[in-house]
Amino acid sequence: MQPDLSVSELVIRTSLGPDGAKLPDTRLRAILDLSPDELVEWLRTQDQAPFRAKQIRRWLIERRVTSFDQMTDLPAALRQQLAEHFRFSPFEVVGHQIAKDQTEKLLLRLHDGELVECVLMRDPDRRTVCISTQVGCAMGCVFCASGLLGVKRNLSPVEIFEQVLVLHRLMKDDERITNVVVMGIGEPLANYRALMESLTFLTAEDGFGLGARRITVSTVGLPDKIRELAQSGHQYNLAVSLHAPNDTLRTKIVPINRSIGLKEILAAADEYFEITGRRISYEYVLMSGINDRPEHAEELATLLRGRNAHVNLIPMNGVNELVMTAPRDPDTQQFLSILERRGVTATVRKRKGADIDAACGQLRLNRELS
Ligand code: SAH
Repeated sequence: MQPDLSVSELVIRTSLGPDGAKLPDTRLRAILDLSPDELVEWLRTQDQAPFRAKQIRRWLIERRVTSFDQMTDLPAALRQQLAEHFRFSPFEVVGHQIAKDQTEKLLLRLHDGELVECVLMRDPDRRTVCISTQVGCAMGCVFCASGLLGVKRNLSPVEIFEQVLVLHRLMKDDERITNVVVMGIGEPLANYRALMESLTFLTAEDGFGLGARRITVSTVGLPDKIRELAQSGHQYNLAVSLHAPNDTLRTKIVPINRSIGLKEILAAADEYFEITGRRISYEYVLMSGINDRPEHAEELATLLRGRNAHVNLIPMNGVNELVMTAPRDPDTQQFLSILERRGVTATVRKRKGADIDAACGQLRLNRELS
């Protein structure tokens, strides 16, 4: 994004090299990187009517086409101008897996060759999309494939929200995306500005039009950013990845915890609930013998007692490169019943896409290591 340039300058700078020669397609700007106003302004520079902006955005956001050429109610000349000046999408789909349970996972290549993933999960009454916010992750959680190679860069707003659109375009005409979870690769609150801009697009009337309450942001727990999100005036759901009931264990599992600590995270989450009224979800990835013992469940219940919270127990997805393993089923059930007995509401997350490298960041990791 180069927001300080006028659109016409931008078009010239991005589509033409210093000597006026065309740069390769990868240098062109994705069309939805332009705001509605910027698109109108660009149309003006092309001697095209401003009302075309609405038509173009409708094709891009609601209808399921994959090229400018398919925008059949636009004049042929405009379709050509669009194709010359913009990329239809900020990425190319380089991997597409469909699991037996109809979970779909895409591997996307960005203009600079970097890779990210997004996933579509199907339930009888929902279609949930899981999106990424960074290339890699700096948090270093020991059980997670996304952070094994560190963080390369932040995604831009269009690179974040377009993941939803790419999956939307793959769905049948009568299928709709009902929920978005920001639980893919990266720490969303470490890319706060781009996250907020992309969520604004997803919720805007002239954007994707999804209710804020249908969006969940999952964080490792960055207290200042949790507070900023609370103050932003939106009704997004917040999920906090806890994974341990005390700081000694949490710092081993989630290294960034060393400089933060559970007390600060819970205080910020409490504030989030007070301000937004949205119940907080606490995610807890169970790893055999590490954090799945009855005493961990007891300690977690004590920690969350009296809070309006919901615990999502997630049996760890195996990652080839890692030694930690999934918990035994009876241990998961015992953990759940201890929480329930102690009055903490909890559920065990159903596994989706078990046969397609389901764990976060696995597809990308496999490509990067191959
Ligand atoms: N950085 C954010 C969002 C990305 S991770 C966060 O920490 O919440 C989204 C969720 O997937 C987190 O709860 C994370 O702990 C979980 N996750 C990552 N790797 C996993 C694995 N191998 N098995 C199960 N859950 C995993």
